[in-house]
Amino acid sequence: MSQHLWYPFTPIDSPPPLPVVRGEGAWLELADGRRILDAISSWWVTLHGHSHPAIADAIHRQALQLEQVIFAGFTHVPAEQLAAELTTLLPPGLDRVFYSDDGSTAVEVALKLARQVWTNRGEDRRRFIAFEGAYHGDTFGAMAVGARSLFTRAYDPLLFEVAFAPYPETWIGDTDVAAREAAALAELERLLREQPTAAIILEPLMQGASGMRLSRPEFLQQVASLARAHGTLLIFDEVMTGFGRTGDWFACQRAGVTPDLICLSKGLTGGFLPMGATVASEAIYDAFRGQEPERTFWHGHSYTANPLGCAAALASLELLRQAEPVVRGFEARHRQHLETLADHPRLRRLRTLGTIAALEVGDPGVSGDDGGYLSSYGPRLRVLALEEGVLLRPLGNILYLLPPLCLSDSELAGVYGAIAHILDRL
Ligand code: PLP
Repeated sequence: MSQHLWYPFTPIDSPPPLPVVRGEGAWLELADGRRILDAISSWWVTLHGHSHPAIADAIHRQALQLEQVIFAGFTHVPAEQLAAELTTLLPPGLDRVFYSDDGSTAVEVALKLARQVWTNRGEDRRRFIAFEGAYHGDTFGAMAVGARSLFTRAYDPLLFEVAFAPYPETWIGDTDVAAREAAALAELERLLREQPTAAIILEPLMQGASGMRLSRPEFLQQVASLARAHGTLLIFDEVMTGFGRTGDWFACQRAGVTPDLICLSKGLTGGFLPMGATVASEAIYDAFRGQEPERTFWHGHSYTANPLGCAAALASLELLRQAEPVVRGFEARHRQHLETLADHPRLRRLRTLGTIAALEVGDPGVSGDDGGYLSSYGPRLRVLALEEGVLLRPLGNILYLLPPLCLSDSELAGVYGAIAHILDRL
């Protein structure tokens, strides 16, 4: 273990990290020769599995042609091609692509655009509305629109004020969701009436980091109609849900709702290179036209539109096109396995959406709060999973699968078999 490294999301005195020497498909190979099945796509990024040769090849070829160039005053074909592809794949109306570096910066860009579009239009709208439990990243703006938590505690006094609406989480067999949605929508409407709002931001259909918390398309449609009724912008953070994760190309399509701004990252490059993109409506872009410097969006990153990232993304999108039947069929595969686990006394609130499945683990016969991210189940589940040869990184007591699309039926069955074994060993 290196004496010089500082690892992310890791208390300093944690057990040493596992050295990985190779990745192929869904599998990681450790330095001691052990093989681990990566059932969470390594923080939700490796869409097609590890080291896919088609993406590796595309990066190699691009690196020999143009590895990087300043993106202000200069442009290049991979960035233009990728923007054309993204705007074709997204619902009509999302037409202008602004590149950045990762999920957090894609969110920062959306927040800044949503603020400045109003000042450019001569209105001082500064309020944002987000949802309880939201996670949008670790930069200051992204933290501000995320739930206040252990992660943000030291910075809370420095974050701009955001109003939070309740999030009506649901699961398989839930019978009370309509009432929870109605209460959430009533509160959202109250907040919208309170003062002019710049934008509502949310993770459509599934909140990721707060525990793979599912919501219904109907809810999203209602949120969108409230946003329209109050002239408020709608930002979808599809950093996790984008690129096939929800069983359609994007969650917005699965829900039949078009936002004004969409944030993309994670699966964008198939997990090969860090890259983010924020796609805006033409109406937002129009508000930035003009010669006055005040109208310009003065924002950019050193690596904006990195050609290697764009080449990786183009190759990944081609693979995703080929994998469309897998994307659309994944949820049925999860459901089959979830059904066999449904009556396990330690499980409740099972849910699935596209390629994602999640299960809440608890003491038999006990329901309710299990401590969230700091639930004592988390570390135990993680260790037991590794002993079973599977990388599952539970969010507190929530076990979830977010596997690469290349996962075979027998590999998927192996992961669910491992989960059953883990639950018996708890
Ligand atoms: N938004 C969502 C919905 C996420 O799940 C994440 C990361 O998990 C982010 C934003 C932040 O992305 P990144 O970690 O690439 O900055």
